[in-house]
Amino acid sequence: MNLPLKDPTLLKNRAFIDGEWVAGSATFSVLNPATGELLASVADLGASHTELAITAAGLALRSWRARPAKERSQLLRRWYDLIMANQEDLALIMTAEQGKVLAESRGEIAYGASFIEWFAEEAKRIYGDVIPGSADRRQIVVKQAVGVVAAITPWNFPSAMITRKAGPALAAGCAVVIKPAAETPLSALALAELADRAGIPRGLVNVVTGTDARAIGQALTDSPVVRKLTFTGSTPVGKQLLQQSAATVKKVSMELGGNAPIIVFDDADLDQAVAGALESKYRNAGQTCICVNRVLVQDSIYDAFIAKFVAAAARLSLGDGLLESTTLGPLVSARSANDVHDMVQDAVSSGATVALGGERAEELGECFYRPTVLTDVTQDMRVFREEIFGPVAPIFRFQDEAEAIDMANDTEFGLASYIYTRDIGRAWRVSEGVEYGMVGVNEVAITSEIIPFGGMKESGMGREGSKYGIDDYIETKYICMGGLQA
Ligand code: ADP
Repeated sequence: MNLPLKDPTLLKNRAFIDGEWVAGSATFSVLNPATGELLASVADLGASHTELAITAAGLALRSWRARPAKERSQLLRRWYDLIMANQEDLALIMTAEQGKVLAESRGEIAYGASFIEWFAEEAKRIYGDVIPGSADRRQIVVKQAVGVVAAITPWNFPSAMITRKAGPALAAGCAVVIKPAAETPLSALALAELADRAGIPRGLVNVVTGTDARAIGQALTDSPVVRKLTFTGSTPVGKQLLQQSAATVKKVSMELGGNAPIIVFDDADLDQAVAGALESKYRNAGQTCICVNRVLVQDSIYDAFIAKFVAAAARLSLGDGLLESTTLGPLVSARSANDVHDMVQDAVSSGATVALGGERAEELGECFYRPTVLTDVTQDMRVFREEIFGPVAPIFRFQDEAEAIDMANDTEFGLASYIYTRDIGRAWRVSEGVEYGMVGVNEVAITSEIIPFGGMKESGMGREGSKYGIDDYIETKYICMGGLQA
């Protein structure tokens, strides 16, 4: 497939290790989910190349962490500038390999780049402390780079999940070995090309592409050189990686699954709540870990909410994300479309009503699923308990505030949640009552580089972005300086 790129050299099919483009002996296919077309045959690497990348990162780290923070900052800033200068090409690559609509891809490139910009600034502000003590000694705290960082990232945000990790890692003085998802390696490789052009020294940013995620993951977790693992993906894989990381007691950050509730109270601005639920539910075709997964609506406005929500969802335009008219793209794979349909079938067979959609859009291709709304749903259904990761909105009914909080918390996940109410007291009570790392009150567009993104419970540990986002990449070292008295 020929993408109309201004700079076709951004499209890479080799991995990037120690500043070299590496082919390996096998390749895997990257397909456009909207059309099924082959986009690229990418180097399929495994454990041995991962080890090479780790070694390169370990060596590159030595001089990088010793450089003045200002220099690290300037290089990151140059990387940011190059990403933004190539925003349109990067967005095209992303939509082609991942499916999300072009407007969302442009948004993700800017969002992803903002982490590089933010941490370029933070690089200069990694302060230590002097702790007051007795006259003959000073207690000093210094912050040091944690070391080589392994970053395993998913396909739903092929660019931003990388920059959100690589930005703070490089700012702190670390080197990274990135394992992107096999569905979306092209966005990762384009970022590596731009890091290279920005002058970020070889070995600091490595991208190991491959389909044997288990082997690459094992090489990363087995290595004593890798001091930190940062992972975004599913909860089962996160648990597995946590176990694997225990053997070498790595630092870990985990951004895992979500099961976001949106709680709509009867005092809410209904139109605003409908718009919020719609925006969050169908963004990226429902394939984000903070997408609304369960719509909880107070009994007295349940029917009114459904009428407005169904009418709005029916206006979404399903199609190829490369067309500007499209507002809902395909799912990432045919398997995803099947999984989503299984969940809908599970609900329907237990008594749910399909108010909209409820089926694949086969005339468009095997990855397309119609915007779907389910009513008469209950808490024992899979659509309540599991992360749907598709354009399906199950709408549940609750009676009062206490029941809403209980329903919201009735899950092992705790990433994002949303509340719609005009009652200030209720907004506070519910915000503090829900067990979620992030709460949006009358707002669903809650993420940016300036806030701490992360979850509670089985949604993970650690925070990404904001002033807190650097913490996971630095060690706190205490130095006791004694013998001061003459
Ligand atoms: P998703 O459901 O979003 O694909 P996964 O958790 O399966 O979530 O994938 C997220 C990332 O983790 C991808 O880069 C994938 O290749 C990788 N991955 C999957 N299984 C493993 C594993 N056993 N070890 C290491 N990485 C893995």
